[in-house]
Amino acid sequence: MTASDALSEIAGAIADFVYPPTCSTCTGTLSREESYVCSRCWNSFERVVRTETVIQAIESKFLADEAVDRVDSVFLFEQDPRVRLAVHLLKYEGAESIAEKFGLYISREIVDDEKLSTCDIVTPVPLHPVRQRERGYNQSDLIARSIGRHLNITHHPDLLRRTRQTQTQTMFDAEGRKQNIQGAFAVDQRFLEKVKGLRILLIDDVVTTGSTIKECALTLKHHGASQVFAASAAITI
Ligand SMILES: [Zn+2]
Repeated sequence: MTASDALSEIAGAIADFVYPPTCSTCTGTLSREESYVCSRCWNSFERVVRTETVIQAIESKFLADEAVDRVDSVFLFEQDPRVRLAVHLLKYEGAESIAEKFGLYISREIVDDEKLSTCDIVTPVPLHPVRQRERGYNQSDLIARSIGRHLNITHHPDLLRRTRQTQTQTMFDAEGRKQNIQGAFAVDQRFLEKVKGLRILLIDDVVTTGSTIKECALTLKHHGASQVFAASAAITI
């Protein structure tokens, strides 16, 4: 360690002592191992409990066709403002540690499901390249990478490509979202032959109407994927 490294470490320790970092959702002091959100908050975020009603609500988003074989989500997006804040930190503030945690929670959720935890590939819903350049990263891919690591599944960041810019989905109702996203994805040229027969775990940050996940899954199945499971950090129910 150089003298200047040592000095900046000391300066950091003093700053942490005077202004200890606080949890973004409860303002409690964060420990050294925590960042952005404290463990207490993570453990008390509103969770998806798979009751009959909830399963039906989730399946109703995907029933129209059989593109997606199963969808698992961990947190409730609308019911808990802290979940929305965590997603915001991940999407707009580059909070990688949030992606890591989301990945960990999703992994714990699906580890006991043999089909999901033994998928051949984990891959994200892609951003359009222009959007990704602006943001500097794809938040869903950060989550996918974390899941790949936790479950030991091969991670592919760019199996799918977004072929055209779509308008923000929040501007549309369910039917409008479906039309807005139709034909917006393609399997990357390099993987066209490799997708055949694969069981794919598709990752999104938040599932709302499900139309994005469905369109991605249709694209993968069209190219011969045998099963597509989807998982997201949060869901609107
Ligand atoms: Zn907290």
